[in-house]
Amino acid sequence: MDLKDLYREVILDHNRSPRNFGTLEPADAEAHGHNPLCGDKLHLTVRMDGERLADVRFQGQGCAISVASASLMSEAVRGKSRAEVTSLYEQVHALLTGRQSADALAGAASLGKLVALAGVAEFPVRVKCASLCWHTLEAALAKTRAPATVSTE
Ligand code: ZN
Repeated sequence: MDLKDLYREVILDHNRSPRNFGTLEPADAEAHGHNPLCGDKLHLTVRMDGERLADVRFQGQGCAISVASASLMSEAVRGKSRAEVTSLYEQVHALLTGRQSADALAGAASLGKLVALAGVAEFPVRVKCASLCWHTLEAALAKTRAPATVSTE
């Protein structure tokens, strides 16, 4: 089995049985994501432990890439700080857009199974499907940073 088959297998597996599928209750923040190009919809809930992402769950409907990407992300970001999540997404984005080859990133152990998304680089229209969950997570994390009380004066 070559690397491409292995990557395809990981994507199919995460699409068939998405990890961390569901909703956290209570959650510290939530966010909705929508990719109109493909019709992917995502609802994400997060729970924080101080500055770390304690847990993340997602629900939604979308193409295989969007679901597999959210599933892979949910496993990869657990326990990470905001800065680590941001740096992880930068690596994933470089992979998705083909700026970094999977081979070059394979050494970066932090990516883990996320390298399976390397195949997406061959289908530019799918990049938004794969990055939707990351943008949605960013939106949810931004909300957790908001002060508990906001003065409108
Ligand atoms: Zn899609």
